[in-house]
Amino acid sequence: MKDKIVIATGNAKKLIEIQSILEDINVEVLPQSYFNIAPTDEPFHTFIENALIKARHASRLSKLPAIADDSGISVDALGGQPGVLSARFAGEPSSDQKNNEKLLKILENEVNRKAHYTCVIVFVRNEMDPEPIIAEGIWHGEILKVPRGIGGFGYDSLFLDHMTEKTVAELPSEIKNRISHRGQALHKLKLKLNQIYG
Ligand code: IMP
Repeated sequence: MKDKIVIATGNAKKLIEIQSILEDINVEVLPQSYFNIAPTDEPFHTFIENALIKARHASRLSKLPAIADDSGISVDALGGQPGVLSARFAGEPSSDQKNNEKLLKILENEVNRKAHYTCVIVFVRNEMDPEPIIAEGIWHGEILKVPRGIGGFGYDSLFLDHMTEKTVAELPSEIKNRISHRGQALHKLKLKLNQIYG
């Protein structure tokens, strides 16, 4: 029987990306909803702190090792905002459409459109793990003035990838998973997990 790991996210689109990137490691990856675990608060100012609290919470309640992702988009002209508040940028309950509208409005007359996605992934062996495995990925791009594409989630239809000249919402999911902030972080994590579970 394969070892189990719980994924500490309530975001269905994120979960699909994480499961698909981790599908070739020798573990069974289960969402926290499988254990009826409700999302925890994310009270901190940094991705790493929020990722850690999510992973420890899911591990405590499932009694399993846990992986958590904390991610967001940071816009240069906004001093790095919305950052850790990306999901709640336009308030709660969170809405991708409202977040995108708010971002477009704020940047209406802005020439500097540079932005990056950040993803911090944390793996804890148990709730009290003093040595979590931490991996980060950063994806640089820019915010368009009008959305393009229908794939992905969050800010993907506004985020232009410089290498492909496509928005993330226009990229096939296999390509997004290979080059994205989340893909980069999870590929680093996978190297370490293969040493533990391989
Ligand atoms: P979290 O669930 O607190 O980590 O919030 C993540 C938020 O950042 C999402 O709800 C999106 O608004 C944004 N975000 C993170 N990763 C992506 C991505 O891959 N595409 C689009 N938006 C993302």
